[in-house]
Amino acid sequence: MDKKPRTSRIMRSNEPGFEAACMDTLFNKRTPINFPEILFQVHRVEDILEAIQLAKAEGLKVSVVSGGHSWSANHMRKNSLVIDMSFMNAYAVDKPRMQATAEPGCYGHTLMSALVKQGLFFPTGHCKGVCLGGYLLKGGFGWHSVELGLACENVVGLDIVTADGRIVHASDNENPDLFWAARGAGSGFFGVVFRYHLKLYRRPGFIGLNTHIYKFEHMDEVVHWMMGLRGQLSDKVELKISITRKSSVIHQPSIDVGAFVFADSWAEARAVTKFMHDCPIKKKASLRIPLIPVTMGIHYYLTSLYYPDEQRWAVDNIWTHAQPEDLLPSFHQLMKDMPPEPSFLHFEYWAGAARKRLDMAFSMEDDFFLTAMAAWKNPADDERHTKFITEEMQKLEPFATGTQLADENLNHRTSKFMSTENLLKLDKIRAKWDTDRLFHEWHSRPTS
Ligand SMILES: Cc1cc2nc3c(=O)[nH]c(=O)nc-3n(C[C@H](O)[C@H](O)[C@H](O)COP(=O)(O)OP(=O)(O)OC[C@H]3O[C@@H](n4cnc5c(N)ncnc54)[C@H](O)[C@@H]3O)c2cc1C
Repeated sequence: MDKKPRTSRIMRSNEPGFEAACMDTLFNKRTPINFPEILFQVHRVEDILEAIQLAKAEGLKVSVVSGGHSWSANHMRKNSLVIDMSFMNAYAVDKPRMQATAEPGCYGHTLMSALVKQGLFFPTGHCKGVCLGGYLLKGGFGWHSVELGLACENVVGLDIVTADGRIVHASDNENPDLFWAARGAGSGFFGVVFRYHLKLYRRPGFIGLNTHIYKFEHMDEVVHWMMGLRGQLSDKVELKISITRKSSVIHQPSIDVGAFVFADSWAEARAVTKFMHDCPIKKKASLRIPLIPVTMGIHYYLTSLYYPDEQRWAVDNIWTHAQPEDLLPSFHQLMKDMPPEPSFLHFEYWAGAARKRLDMAFSMEDDFFLTAMAAWKNPADDERHTKFITEEMQKLEPFATGTQLADENLNHRTSKFMSTENLLKLDKIRAKWDTDRLFHEWHSRPTS
């Protein structure tokens, strides 16, 4: 996973190896619609200032990449200079102050590993490779986020290079409008974040997992049961199902139900997962793994099995509070026509939606989210699979509240990702901080 710096710090589109270097910045290997003009690898703040000056001198817009885990390859824009932050990946933990600083190229799992060794915790993303850069700007649905809040709610400050080449700090007390914007703007952010200041927590006393694995034929019953739990679960549980075409431990495609627990003790963990014990369809499961303690390393390992490297992906999502019968026809259609493994559907009960949020740009969530993840290897299939996933999610729009920026498909389907009020406010803040619109924003935005 460790990357080697390119020997050439600044690469131009007419140089040999340029497209390969651009593809190296991406987790999703689907060929992007556009390529930039310049790739500028930065190692220190002065490089960011130089990159911004160069973009202006050459009449280019700026896009930024940290871990490159944007499914829609958001930084791959034409007429653009890409600032590659992936080598700015240092972090420092200040246990007495219960704070950490981290550069945007820092992997979430690297920070998590350092924290848990010291008895500390932060709601980093669920998969290896996701960097803090994009993850924190988009909101951040992390481990234990139901109780600890979105990861961006635990950002207490940011150090930013602005469009006019100034270095500023943003927090509740300094440049609060920029701070408001940075917590939820995602790819619509108009500055280069080079350091995050994070609030830390004590590591939960018990971290574990309770799993039931079903055959495909039980999909309707599992979805009905899960959606019926709305409003009944403890904030210490994350409940998700992965409907996968991968041959899992039951040697056939499966529905993996995972209750991830972050409790104070074994006793509390048992109490908050009682709903798994009481599940009325549990006898239909092909495999039931009781509540067991699991390290964060194992959590990361297990999640990463769903996302192998070197795949071409088409990913799209909806937020919803619809009824199971509204959603299930699409679940069946998707599972019938998605490419074979490792394609899968991720469906999660997001109890966090009921929480009162901080005042920040992030403003779109609902009780459940569904993400369709189609994966394949052959470039000739790019258009077909992307069109299929996009059209299936379009069919679900009558039942959707909006889309989640973390798994957005805004280069193919426009959908609401923020409240109208917040989008207007964000535009005003952008007009102040990025007068000439130097920075690219999302691939598309809703018109109303
Ligand atoms: C396998 C996988 C698993 C995932 N799991 C989760 C999960 O558990 N929870 C969750 O919430 N999300 C998850 N995501 C979504 C992920 O959080 C987003 O894709 C996020 O953008 C990743 O951050 P990144 O830095 O790696 O991405 P990048 O592609 O580098 O960044 C995305 C965008 O953010 C902006 N950006 C990035 N860095 C900076 C910066 N330093 N300054 C200014 N703007 C910047 C740019 O607009 C950029 O295009 C997952 C994605 C993948 C591929």
